[in-house]
Amino acid sequence: MLQKRNQRSVLNISVRKIYKVKLIQLLTMQYDTIVVGLGSAGTTAATTLARAGRRVLALEAQNRIGGRVNTVQFGDGVVELGAEWIHGINPSRVYDTAIKNNITVLSQDLTMDAYTSDGRQADKELVNELIEYCLGQVENTTNDNQPLGDFLTKKLKEHLNATKPSVLEDEDFMENFLDLMDQVVGNYEGSNSWNDVSTFTHYQELSGDQHMSWHRNGYKTFFELLLNTYQGGPGLPNLNIKLNTEVTKIVWPQKPLTPVEVTCSNGEVFKADNVIITVSIGVLKERHTSLFKPSLPIDKVQAIDNLTIGVMDKIVFTFDKAWWPNLHTFFAFLWRREEKKKVLEEDRWITKIFGASTPLGSSNTLTLWTSGDAGKLVEKLPEDVVKRKCIELLQRFLGANTTVPEPTGMLRTTWFTNPYTRGSYSYDSVTSMKYPNSRADLGKPLVDSAGVPKVLFAGEATDLTHFSTVHGASDSGFREAMRLLPSSKL
Ligand SMILES: Cc1cc2nc3c(=O)[nH]c(=O)nc-3n(C[C@H](O)[C@H](O)[C@H](O)COP(=O)(O)OP(=O)(O)OC[C@H]3O[C@@H](n4cnc5c(N)ncnc54)[C@H](O)[C@@H]3O)c2cc1C
Repeated sequence: MLQKRNQRSVLNISVRKIYKVKLIQLLTMQYDTIVVGLGSAGTTAATTLARAGRRVLALEAQNRIGGRVNTVQFGDGVVELGAEWIHGINPSRVYDTAIKNNITVLSQDLTMDAYTSDGRQADKELVNELIEYCLGQVENTTNDNQPLGDFLTKKLKEHLNATKPSVLEDEDFMENFLDLMDQVVGNYEGSNSWNDVSTFTHYQELSGDQHMSWHRNGYKTFFELLLNTYQGGPGLPNLNIKLNTEVTKIVWPQKPLTPVEVTCSNGEVFKADNVIITVSIGVLKERHTSLFKPSLPIDKVQAIDNLTIGVMDKIVFTFDKAWWPNLHTFFAFLWRREEKKKVLEEDRWITKIFGASTPLGSSNTLTLWTSGDAGKLVEKLPEDVVKRKCIELLQRFLGANTTVPEPTGMLRTTWFTNPYTRGSYSYDSVTSMKYPNSRADLGKPLVDSAGVPKVLFAGEATDLTHFSTVHGASDSGFREAMRLLPSSKL
């Protein structure tokens, strides 16, 4: 009897102990892992850990989940202010997530309908053939760190000399086609000039369709599926999410078995065994000196300094109804020398809007695309100026047989101005590729004196071969989550 009573009290004591530990953990808000940022990388990391039973806190500075993926209601459906397409199939966590959950994705044909600045349709076949040729040559670059624009110009001229010398002799066309190609590259890389982009890159394209759209579901569906909130799903019990919570300090200990301490701008402090930080390389460049205590080691600082983030922005209009000549296409704008010369200096940015596409998430919206310094400028110009000049641009290129109607709404992106992104995506520039190990250095965890990871780094810029994409960012989040999980949790 006494023995039993003793056993019961021992049991009671240990149960009480467990409750006490849990209570202390709750009161001091200690988690297994804190994830900073809920873009593709952070959401993948947080949900992977939470599904494996880890107690996870995710802190997101903005009032929404998604980061550089931002689906918004617009027109008669949705538009994407950030990532637009799933690039490739195999192996893509993004594509797989859609397919496993029976969500259809639609292939978008991006063959260009080229129009010239005098309102005429350009030789569509020729323009597309030359764009394809140039993009194909990107695959043939070597590990020489050379400006991509110079390389492609040389290749294209050699090709035309051998196959279509008359095109080469058309100086006006060549000048403006090369300018268009510069902007096509700018769209992919976020570069200001295609000569800022290096011929030396570790980027690898996934096989399969490069332009699959989440159409009316929106890219946000990817996040809802990861978080188990799709169509009213209950979420994940082990994952605590705090939006509007900006992290300002991460104190990472050298002493083993000591928690990492994360302070937020609202004064809240959280503790965890470790932290996965997923903010963009633009944010790290601006904030790393104040964000980490102790300061980051030199190889990390150099990696942050040496990597390049580009800017790509969109201006989206909605109209009462579609008025453009072809319902689903990409209109490319090919200036003619004489007309371009007449554009006032203060309006030059308009010549850097290289085209307009018809998003698959709605039927009455048009997205205009720009990059580099022009993008940064467009983010800051008065809204009415951007609107008026863009409508003039559409009238000039697409309005030969129609008067472009007044748009009923306009959105423009501010990926550079936004303090939580400071750019659109990283790219391999001529300057960054002088240090080709930067992405690997950025992705290395900070460890305590026992070699245990305390601060782990994910985000698109840390992915060695699929940086600049949603699938690359997601892979990086998975990579860091797996660093913290025993292989049995796979
Ligand atoms: C205009 C545009 C078009 C694109 N098009 C495509 C495309 O078609 N296909 C494709 O695959 N990719 C595309 N991309 C790239 C893709 O969107 C990104 O590579 C990817 O979404 C990056 O995810 P991430 O998790 O690394 O970073 P992010 O999405 O930037 O996530 C980081 C998160 O951290 C948060 N954060 C920042 N600072 C703090 C702080 N101090 N405290 C707390 N939280 C903080 C941010 O708010 C953000 O939510 C596009 C990007 C842009 C901008």
